[in-house]
Amino acid sequence: MCMAMKGVFKYLSPIAHLGEKKYTIQFPLFFTLFLAIGNELLTNRLIYNPSLNSILAIVVFIALITYFSFRNGIRGGIASVVITISYYLYIVFSRPSSLSDRILQLEMVLLLTILYLFLAFIVGGLKQIVDNLVETEANEKIRLQSIIQQLPLGVVITDDQGNVIKANKKSEQILGMKIPIGFPLAQKTLIDTFQNEKRINPTRGVIAQTLRNGKPISQRETFIIRKDGKKVLLRLNAAAIHNRHGKIIAAASIIQDITLEKENEKRKDDFVNIASHELKTPLTSMKLYLDLLQSRYDQRVQDRKTKELLTSVKYQTNRLQELVSDLLDVTRLQTGKLTYNKEEFNLNQLALESIRQLQTTTNHQKIIMTKSEEITVIADRFRIQQVLINLITNAIKYSPENSNISLQIKKKGDMALVSVKDKGIGVAKDQKKKIFERLYQAATTDDKKFPGLGMGLYISKQIIKRHRGKIWVESQEQKGSTFYFTLPIKSA
Ligand code: ADP
Repeated sequence: MCMAMKGVFKYLSPIAHLGEKKYTIQFPLFFTLFLAIGNELLTNRLIYNPSLNSILAIVVFIALITYFSFRNGIRGGIASVVITISYYLYIVFSRPSSLSDRILQLEMVLLLTILYLFLAFIVGGLKQIVDNLVETEANEKIRLQSIIQQLPLGVVITDDQGNVIKANKKSEQILGMKIPIGFPLAQKTLIDTFQNEKRINPTRGVIAQTLRNGKPISQRETFIIRKDGKKVLLRLNAAAIHNRHGKIIAAASIIQDITLEKENEKRKDDFVNIASHELKTPLTSMKLYLDLLQSRYDQRVQDRKTKELLTSVKYQTNRLQELVSDLLDVTRLQTGKLTYNKEEFNLNQLALESIRQLQTTTNHQKIIMTKSEEITVIADRFRIQQVLINLITNAIKYSPENSNISLQIKKKGDMALVSVKDKGIGVAKDQKKKIFERLYQAATTDDKKFPGLGMGLYISKQIIKRHRGKIWVESQEQKGSTFYFTLPIKSA
């Protein structure tokens, strides 16, 4: 019974039909006709009261036209107007009256027709506009929802309290469980989440954090132990959603399963590690034999061409050895196995040594040490020289012939500030941070003007970081770059 009542109410309610865009005329036609007959029978035939009849004939039908315009659009309103006006004409012609009265009545009917049509167009038109809006909104919602569902990434959206509003299938797949709507994600845990091998409380999770401070969190790597016991590595992004007044109203997070990616990365690193280890031993022997060969030639053979060839082979072998050693360093850094042996040494002396060594590799560029302060540091001498050599080598590589490269060492508070300045190609603004990333090269690979693998600055950054210093670049494209690094003077 209740269901039937609900059904009738839904059928009659114009609100329930918003967005349907069904503009049928049957119901308005029959119902208005039904009411006209009812009105005629009740007020004119049964109770015979012409004035009540005319009041009702106006009030009831205005209400009816408004209702049908709102329920069935302009078409429904007009259908109701047609029946109403036909009924009015019936009243005019079925009652005895004088010609002048009749003309007056007809004028009245004409006026009412214009008024009713106006009403039907305004209300019906408004209804149709609302229908379009509702439909657009609904379509947008469906489109958005299906995009979220189809995404190859997990998406979880919560309200401002961290309760789940929407979680797509992929997020459930990644986390290996159902995420119920309303689940208090920022307070309770669905699964055990870890960060740096430590189990973390959900209030420290990305959703809780972004809801607390409104700041987006990007590329946070973490892992979970799923209910089925599987360890899944995740990359998380989260952002709070603000309303127009800046108030946080929701949060969205993107979950990526990076287990496979990390496994592949590890396999690649393992390969590079093994390959560079395997290359190191024969290379060392090769260099020894080459030295031997060169000394024999120096003593016995006077063939200049052969000597030149030997020098070239030695140069290339040295380069290969540097490359292999960089590769080894990168893998050691990745696995945290790069060790540091700290000692006290004079930074200026080390810089001069490095300059002397590298000046032999270039005939055209002059490497000079500009006015510097004498500074002693406690650091890994070998590794700091590696940084200096890398910066100077880059300065040589990326600047034109006949240009000077200058090195300077200064005190800045309790830090030593070292700078290597060149007048070369420079570094674009958006590349200044990236060039310190692993295997990153600013020049595109298809114009391989400068050989290299993009390891030097990454290694340098890690070394300086481990010494609690900083490394950065200031540069203007095509004008030159100055690479800076700092080292604590009284390094622990
Ligand atoms: P590589 O020189 O082997 O490519 P690096 O890690 O030493 O690797 O440098 C990374 C990138 O930074 C280089 O590919 C180059 O694009 C840019 N770069 C480094 N030093 C300079 C410099 N002095 N001037 C201009 N660009 C530089």
